[in-house]
Amino acid sequence: MKFTALFIFASSLLSCSGQTSGTTKNIPERDSIKIEEASAVELFYSKNKGNDSASKSLGTESNGSLINGKLLPFSGPNFTYFDTSSYLNGRAFVNQNVKEILLESYQELAKDLPRRKFFIMECSFKNGGRLYPHRTHQNGLSVDFMMPLLQNGAPYYALDTIGKDHYFLEFNNQGQYSKDTSVSIDFNLIARQLLILDKVARLHGMMISKVIIKTELKDELYATEYGKLLRASKIYVVQSLTPVVNAFHDEHFHVDFLF
Ligand SMILES: [Zn+2]
Repeated sequence: MKFTALFIFASSLLSCSGQTSGTTKNIPERDSIKIEEASAVELFYSKNKGNDSASKSLGTESNGSLINGKLLPFSGPNFTYFDTSSYLNGRAFVNQNVKEILLESYQELAKDLPRRKFFIMECSFKNGGRLYPHRTHQNGLSVDFMMPLLQNGAPYYALDTIGKDHYFLEFNNQGQYSKDTSVSIDFNLIARQLLILDKVARLHGMMISKVIIKTELKDELYATEYGKLLRASKIYVVQSLTPVVNAFHDEHFHVDFLF
């Protein structure tokens, strides 16, 4: 089911591509592209990180817009945005408050788990509106987070750096990667991250209004140590989804914030 949307999604990400190419003298081509991409990302962030005034989220996640949206930094000490083209195509904007909540949450995670790396997936456009193919993500209050993975009890990152294709990875209903069941979702860490996000959100006068994760994975999420705390919390994890939306939430989880 996921692959029906592959082409459309890939095209939408790349429609006004900010990808770079070319070589610089004496630097291998691949390294040169990396350097060019890094400087394009840096330039894009400096142009779009925004001012000190507040953002305004209008309407709803599925029919809304964003005023004075702020771009997330591409990376920090323990987090990275998942796809350069998506970033340069302006799909990593959020409400100012959500930006602060994310950055403070990653600081807190770094204190607790100094070696763990996290990946952020798509957010919103600078002015919000439809972010194809997402139904929501329209007013700067929705963020997709990559599922952290484990292999033999240790963090596993080999699937985290494939860019937009990450949305098309498939996991079974026990949270194991379909092509290598030794790789599995770290549900305990997802629950821990959600609890931190909601705690920090509340310090900013916000809260998590909704978490979307493939419904068949909820049992696995709630069975973990932090999952039990998540289940006892007021954080709402959706009960049922349409088959298409459900199928897309096995390699990332979606969070909506609310004022
Ligand atoms: Zn989403």
